[in-house]
Amino acid sequence: MSGTRAARIEAPLNDGTIPASRVPVVAEADVVVVGGGPGGFAAALRAARAGARTILIERFDMPGGVHTSGLQGAAGEGVGGIHTELMERFAAKGFIYVATENDLPGWAGNPLSHYERNMKPGSPFRRASFNPEGAGCEMALMLAEAGVDCMYATAFVEAIVEAQAGRDNKIAAVVVHDAEGLRAVRGKIFIDGTGTAELAARAGAPVGSGGGGQPAGADWDGVERPIPGGLLWIMSGVDFAQTARHQESARDPTLSRLIAEASAAGDIPPGLYRPRMKGGNVYGEAYIGHPTLDFSPMLREGTFVVWQNVPYEWALRMDESAGDASRARGELRGFIEAEARFLRKYAPGFSAATLMDVGRFVGVRDGRHPVGEHVFSLADAREGREFRDAISKPMTKTFFWDGPRKHRFQVPFRCFLPKNVENLLLTGASLSFEYETIFMVMRNFPWCAQTGEIAGFAAARCVERGVSPKEFEWRETYF
Ligand SMILES: Cc1cc2nc3c(=O)[nH]c(=O)nc-3n(C[C@H](O)[C@H](O)[C@H](O)COP(=O)(O)OP(=O)(O)OC[C@H]3O[C@@H](n4cnc5c(N)ncnc54)[C@H](O)[C@@H]3O)c2cc1C
Repeated sequence: MSGTRAARIEAPLNDGTIPASRVPVVAEADVVVVGGGPGGFAAALRAARAGARTILIERFDMPGGVHTSGLQGAAGEGVGGIHTELMERFAAKGFIYVATENDLPGWAGNPLSHYERNMKPGSPFRRASFNPEGAGCEMALMLAEAGVDCMYATAFVEAIVEAQAGRDNKIAAVVVHDAEGLRAVRGKIFIDGTGTAELAARAGAPVGSGGGGQPAGADWDGVERPIPGGLLWIMSGVDFAQTARHQESARDPTLSRLIAEASAAGDIPPGLYRPRMKGGNVYGEAYIGHPTLDFSPMLREGTFVVWQNVPYEWALRMDESAGDASRARGELRGFIEAEARFLRKYAPGFSAATLMDVGRFVGVRDGRHPVGEHVFSLADAREGREFRDAISKPMTKTFFWDGPRKHRFQVPFRCFLPKNVENLLLTGASLSFEYETIFMVMRNFPWCAQTGEIAGFAAARCVERGVSPKEFEWRETYF
């Protein structure tokens, strides 16, 4: 463990489920954050900067979650607070790469583009990405500067929960697994930054599974599945101008002809390129393999991030089923190898391309939904509700459930407070919201960083005042 603040504690930990002798309590802090994605990172940083002794537990070797370990380096305008600071620090270190129509003339409107495919061909665009490895280093540095005790290569496995008469339960400690085996970390306030509400679920908060219905009028087979997760990978050495010339001259914008040729030669494994569902449902447009190969420029010229999404028809719940998680990891890695091989062999512009990197994990887009003291709902958005405990000024968003209609709404602090657990705050993709609202704001990187910052701020205030998050009165907007 880095840092010096986490003192060894000899007091036994024994709730009867794990022998105390096997789980020494090795650290304690005011605020213990589990998971260091945008939510957990910002929470730990904000809590430590506010003076709370803070520990961050992260299973990988750097913070940033989907956006670093998962290679999803999409960068954008800062939305304020820590998110803006991140964008500025990444830029200052030279970690942001910007592609425009000058670098990639055939990119806007190209069906292979993840973000720009719906643009008018030839139109100007600006696609900014950050280098995930560089960004992870910078985020780790920020945590170290703020004095956060970071436990990397450490997986959270269980919550030790105490019952309290007449009140919600309390997390006493979390059990983690690291190079020394099972150990425990005690805390006053805990923050769930796992991206899948794993801490909330293990601590006994009610949770729902990902997935649900579809907007009215969507072409949908009636099966409720979570929005598929994805494994991102990087290919470099691509001569995209050559690819674009081929798409045009061969009239093969989606490379379907090349895929058919490769299939006939036995070079495409079953399942790699699947038909997509059509219409305005949440699976069809963005989250399957073909016809969009899903590329985005990143890092430097000729380097692209490529999406390998879980086939939606597999309906995997990677956050709840070990078998699903293992299947996703194994099969998607196989697809990546096959796709890279196909591109190099068949697609003009790829003959010198190299498979550079594969994300450390398959990102979960739609995991558990914890039930908080307030569950942000479709009705909250549609009716433009405002709340006395709103965390920000009203936001204006559209989302496909309601077509182009704009919604102006607020999110209350109660969405950070899971039911049944007194000393736990939620962040990021683990906030309490209905599946239907998932694309409004609830899971994008800037928002996850903002919610983390709010949770860290609230946790530090609770410690200072000696109250639990449930007792904390949220009165002013933060953003
Ligand atoms: C494939 C994919 C593409 C996406 N594309 C975009 C995009 O283009 N733009 C955008 O804004 N958003 C995008 N998102 C959404 C966004 O990335 C996530 O919603 C956001 O990262 C969630 O932040 P988080 O901090 O809640 O969780 P995460 O980013 O998931 O981070 C969770 C962290 O917790 C750690 N962790 C989890 N469990 C444990 C454990 N048991 N022990 C220790 N550590 C643990 C993980 O290692 C990880 O570091 C995408 C998501 C996915 C999956």
